[in-house]
Amino acid sequence: KVGDEITCDQLATGILNGDRTMLARSITLIESNAEHHFQKSQTLLQQLLHHTGKSIRIGITGVPGAGKSTFIEAFGMFLCNLGLKVAVLAVDPSSSRSGGSILGDKTRMEQLARNPRAFIRPSPSEGKLGGVHRKTKETMLLCEAFGFDVILIETVGVGQSEVIVRDMVDFFMLIVLTGAGDELQGMKKGIMELADAIVVNKADGENKASALKTKKEYNQILHFLQPATKGWETKAYTCSSLLENGIKEIWDVIKDFESTTKQSGVFADRRRSQTKEWMKSMIIDQLQNSFFHNQEIKELLPKVENQVISGNKTVTSAVEELFKQYYKSLT
Ligand code: GDP
Repeated sequence: KVGDEITCDQLATGILNGDRTMLARSITLIESNAEHHFQKSQTLLQQLLHHTGKSIRIGITGVPGAGKSTFIEAFGMFLCNLGLKVAVLAVDPSSSRSGGSILGDKTRMEQLARNPRAFIRPSPSEGKLGGVHRKTKETMLLCEAFGFDVILIETVGVGQSEVIVRDMVDFFMLIVLTGAGDELQGMKKGIMELADAIVVNKADGENKASALKTKKEYNQILHFLQPATKGWETKAYTCSSLLENGIKEIWDVIKDFESTTKQSGVFADRRRSQTKEWMKSMIIDQLQNSFFHNQEIKELLPKVENQVISGNKTVTSAVEELFKQYYKSLT
C-alpha cells in the first residue's frame, strides 16, 4: 500500500527507527509511477540523504541456473549470523514484460526471507530500464538509511542490466558454472571485465574437480583482461552454495577489496563518479522526454522525417530544424 495518508516525516522517522512497514511503504512510494508519489518520494529521500552511503554494495550476476539465489541464501545467512543486516534487491529487465519478477523472489530464499536481519525486495517492474535503475538505486538508499550493512543487488546476466548494476555497486561478482569450457570461449570478455570476482559455483561432489579446473581456466583468461577496479586483481574462486563451502572466503575477499580500495581512494572515487553518471543519465532521460513529448515536435517530426526519407532534406538540416522549433517552443 502506498502511504498516501502518511507524511514524509512519519516515513523518515519510521525508517530511522527500523520500522519495516515504513520501509516497505516508502519503497512502494518510490516504485509508484504517479507524479505526486514521485514528488513525495524525492522529499523523503532528501530527508534521509545524510543517513545513506554506509553499506557495502555488492552486485551479483550470472546466467539463470548458475546458482545466484542459492548463493544469496547461503551468503546472506552467513552475513546475518555474523550479526550483519542484509538487504537483497533485484534488477530484472524481464519483469516489466512478464509482469512478475523472477529475481529476488522470497520463495527462492526461504531461510533468508524469514531471518529478522534480512530484507528481500523483488525487482520493480517498469517499462523502461532507466526507471528500474532509478528505483533500485533509490531503494538502496532507503535501505542504507534503515541501517542495512550489506546490500546485495542481483541481476540476470543478459545484456544491459549487468552494466547498470555495475554502476550502482562497489563490488561486482559473476557467478559461473563448472566445466564451462565452451561457455568460457563464448562468454563475452565484456562481462568478465566488469567483475571484481568470478565465483565458480557448485564445486561439490563429482563436480568439484572440474570446478577447480574451471577456476584455473578463468584465472588464465583474467590475466589478460583489464581489471574492473584500479589496483584490484580480479580472480576466480570456487564455492558450493548448496553445502555452504567457500562462502566465508568470498566474504574475506570482499572485506579485503573494501579495505584496499578505501585506502587507495578508489572506493570513494567510484561512488562519486557513479553519482555523477547517475545524474547525467537522468538529465539525458529528461531531455529525451521533454523533446519527444513536445507537442510541436510531435507534429513536425513526421513531416521532416518524410522529407529526409524521400531525399529532399539532409538529416543534419532536419535535426537543426527540429531543434530550432523545439527551442522556440520553450520560450
Ligand atoms: P539462479 O537461477 O542463478 O538463481 O540459480 P538457482 O540458485 O535457482 O540454482 C539453480 C539450480 O542449481 C538449483 O537446482 C540449485 O539447487 C542448484 N544449485 C545451486 N547452487 C548449487 C551448488 O552449490 N551445488 C549444487 N550441487 N547445486 C547447486
